Amino acid sequence: MSPQQTLQNTFGFREFREPQQQIIETLIAGQDCFVLMPTGGGKSLCYQIPALHRQGVAIVVSPLISLMKDQVDALNANGVSAACYNSSLAAQEARDVLSQLHRQQLDLLYVAPERLLSPDFLERLHDIKIALIAVDEAHCVSQWGHDFRPEYVQLGQLRDQFPDTPMIALTATADMQTRQDIVERLRLHHARKFISSFDRPNIRYTVVDKQKPIVQLEQFLDQHRNEAGIVYALSRKRVEEIAAKLVDRGIVAAAYHAGLPDRQRHEVQEAFLRDDIQVVVATVAFGMGIDKSNVRFVVHYDLPKNIESYYQETGRAGRDGLPAEALLLFGYGDIAIARGLIEKGGNPDQVRIELHKLNAMVSYAEPLTCRRRALLGYFGETLDHDCGNCDLCLNPPERYNATEDAQKVLSCVYRVGQRFGAKHVIDVLRGSSGQRVLDLGHDKLSTYGIGADQSSDVWGGLIRQLVHLGYLYQDVANYSVIKLTELSRTVLTGQQELTLARPRLKAVTKKPVRKR
Ligand code: ADP
Ligand code: ZN
Repeated sequence: MSPQQTLQNTFGFREFREPQQQIIETLIAGQDCFVLMPTGGGKSLCYQIPALHRQGVAIVVSPLISLMKDQVDALNANGVSAACYNSSLAAQEARDVLSQLHRQQLDLLYVAPERLLSPDFLERLHDIKIALIAVDEAHCVSQWGHDFRPEYVQLGQLRDQFPDTPMIALTATADMQTRQDIVERLRLHHARKFISSFDRPNIRYTVVDKQKPIVQLEQFLDQHRNEAGIVYALSRKRVEEIAAKLVDRGIVAAAYHAGLPDRQRHEVQEAFLRDDIQVVVATVAFGMGIDKSNVRFVVHYDLPKNIESYYQETGRAGRDGLPAEALLLFGYGDIAIARGLIEKGGNPDQVRIELHKLNAMVSYAEPLTCRRRALLGYFGETLDHDCGNCDLCLNPPERYNATEDAQKVLSCVYRVGQRFGAKHVIDVLRGSSGQRVLDLGHDKLSTYGIGADQSSDVWGGLIRQLVHLGYLYQDVANYSVIKLTELSRTVLTGQQELTLARPRLKAVTKKPVRKR
């Protein structure tokens, strides 16, 4: 049987997506692979099909117990023999899994890293045939990544323990540094790299100031009569209100959120798939696992809580490759609401990271940089030209030669040791005599006060553009600290001129006193 037949017979799909087939063939042939693919791109099949084509059991390392269970259930439903082995199992269940493993009855075994690496378990694995080792969410091995997990680092020993077993590392988020780190730390051997672009060129991204949102939405829908689309809103209540208003206007719309009975949700989803409903107004609960190719637009009525969600939700538009629209109604009031919701969450570390992610989302919404460059930049992918298919490309802001200003920013980031956020860098640039600047001795730096002629807002706008374009890296998981990137050097050495949007100039109200 060929992988193509397995795809059809076992998984019920007609065709491979790019570049699944190549990955699968490489792995079946026994070579290591590194796969970077956006969420929803179809990473799982890349190791599930080889698992069925190579002798022995495939070991899948995954950090999230809930995800493991979903995957195993789905595989079992397709008649594939798979199980998971993690701390959620009762003693008897765990014994059953181990006995299946020893009797070589499993095609795939999902394991949490700390379980896999226990000497006892490794011992067992040496007694049986291993088809391949897949490391999912591989960015967790990297301290550069946003989700570092110490137990992942130890996975490096697998390469030595199983020298002849092909390994595949998969992730949906990895900038250059993280990618290198993954390959090194997992000691992948001559790994073939499959880097999918995150770009969805047929989606046009537009952000408008939220004024009278329902009117703005209706005007937008007037231009998209009879086209299928999704409107995302923050709360269940709002979802219902919007849906009712649209229905009043004669639009075939329905509400969808987690508070509705299962049956009703199922009906809405089915009707949408059949094109019997034109617009679904939904909370983020809608869309998981929905595969409708002709969604022509996605509207965000409220601010998404981070760029990951925004990218995933807008990504439900235009799967057929035909032109599609992503419209975000951006209101400053929404920022406070989103912040409030995040702050209600428990774990303080998590709250902190989510707030930084929210800031990145807000900065995306500012009218400064080509939306696509900003979006891709966030995922570590640099586009070296404006896209021509977003509101800012179609209606560009005023621009100027910002090379010198950018050099000031970049050298200041360097001087403060790449250990501070934008606010501190701006304070130093503007020669602030704030206590923190003085305590750190940053008033002694050569870049202290070199930007006193421009307001904080102007510097903020420039820094955000440099982040969007990849000249600076902002670590949202680490206090939004900003650091230089490989591209920074080209600007610092004057090899490259930079044209940036002129941030809306506000008069400098109080000129900071330079302290000497
Ligand atoms: P990822 O792990 O990259 O986020 P998944 O492996 O979960 O993505 O796949 C996302 C969705 O795409 C799943 O619903 C999956 O069944 C579907 N899918 C994957 N490959 C194909 C394919 N070749 N044809 C159709 N659907 C596919
Ligand atoms: Zn653009």
